[in-house]
Amino acid sequence: MKRLIFLGPPGAGKGTQAIKLAEGAAIAHISTGDILRAAVAAQTPLGKQADDYMSRGDLVPDELVLGLVKERLSEADAQNGWILDGFPRNAAQAEALDELLASIEQSADRTVNFEVPDDVLVGRLLQRGRKDDTEEVIRHRLGVYREQTAPLIAFYQSKGKLASIDGNTEVDQVATSLQALLK
Ligand code: AMP
Repeated sequence: MKRLIFLGPPGAGKGTQAIKLAEGAAIAHISTGDILRAAVAAQTPLGKQADDYMSRGDLVPDELVLGLVKERLSEADAQNGWILDGFPRNAAQAEALDELLASIEQSADRTVNFEVPDDVLVGRLLQRGRKDDTEEVIRHRLGVYREQTAPLIAFYQSKGKLASIDGNTEVDQVATSLQALLK
């Protein structure tokens, strides 16, 4: 399986697992958060628009994110497959993704939902210490996740493409379960 969507709350380990899996399978790891952080650091027009939303822990407007995903999916390394990490994040993005994929004659093989309890997430994020990892912003991001992103679990379940994974174990164990799931 070469086209995957990683779904789950911030701190669930999606990024760590996506990096490992993408490297092993020679497919593209597409993290909208990483791309946006790079744009903020480089002070590009996209970065300047995204900065305030990210500092607050709010979602960046859909049209900005959709544009960058579209561009990224058209790059050479994504033709062999991809993992979308942190996108889609709400219903409008999920629908736009369906349309985008249809237009390039692709579709996701599987959506993997990483399950980790809230108290574990907060602890992990506080340890990570990113700029948007203060307790207040973390709580806000978890609220945004619950309200806007978590409904996508049912959306992908209804398509029959959802698999859930226990993300509350050691990194290597999660990687092993993921490999087994995607075989
Ligand atoms: P992440 O690295 O995935 O935790 O994303 C960090 C921040 O980037 C989020 O809190 C949002 O502000 C922004 N972001 C990342 N992906 C998206 C997305 N798909 N839609 C909107 N905002 C996003």
